[in-house]
Amino acid sequence: MSGANVIDDATIREILSDYPRGAKLYAELACRFGRQLLILEESESIFSTYNFGIDDAEYPVALVRLVRGTGREAAALCHELLHIKIYSDGFALPYDFEASEEIDKEASGVVRHNLSAFFNAIDHLTFIDQFLELGFQRDEFLSPYEADLIESVKSLIGYYSRPEFIQYVRGIRNLFFATEYLTDKLNGDFSRSRALSKGFKPHFSDSQSDFASVRTWFRRGTFTDVARRAKALDRLLSRLGVPRPLYYQLEFSSHGVRLRDVR
Ligand SMILES: [Zn+2]
Repeated sequence: MSGANVIDDATIREILSDYPRGAKLYAELACRFGRQLLILEESESIFSTYNFGIDDAEYPVALVRLVRGTGREAAALCHELLHIKIYSDGFALPYDFEASEEIDKEASGVVRHNLSAFFNAIDHLTFIDQFLELGFQRDEFLSPYEADLIESVKSLIGYYSRPEFIQYVRGIRNLFFATEYLTDKLNGDFSRSRALSKGFKPHFSDSQSDFASVRTWFRRGTFTDVARRAKALDRLLSRLGVPRPLYYQLEFSSHGVRLRDVR
């Protein structure tokens, strides 16, 4: 990480100048994290992102990579800050999953990718109301992007024919459906997850009952509960054939922010 692309405090205040509540959110997080919060300029991707530098669990750095010049910088910045805020408010932070020792690299990469997309979608439903309260509109929440559903169904079918994927493929399929379903819930339009479910139906006889349990589970709303989210999700994911996520808990002290492994 070079220091050159750090966005300084004054520039951040300028970006948020029309959104006093967004500026307050930033100030609060800057106060909680001190030097362990960094806003960087993203120049290689078209998406703004966040992450916790979990390679250094001792003193992790919460990073936002912000795409500039999009016309939705304030919204994108606050969106990423809210991801960081909910984990600093106490949600357990997923960082990997429990796996048997001999796991195929590609298969584990696909599981990891789908788990992270799934948690991302849950976060979105968790903080969308807070985002709107900052003064933004619903259509500023996500950058316009949609995964190609047909391609996803095809790659899933491909995984089923490969032995190294066998123990994970049902979980991957269910995570993919759940992510799409949650995004539909956010948008108030269920046509994409319905189309996905239809696409999977002729290929996987067990998919419809799995998808039904995803829908039922999310209607309960437990996932927005700080104290219960991780345990409740463990139960859902094990029922869906998804490996158990591993979590960190953020801990704040006078020495700084640390990540504690939660078992
Ligand atoms: Zn997000």
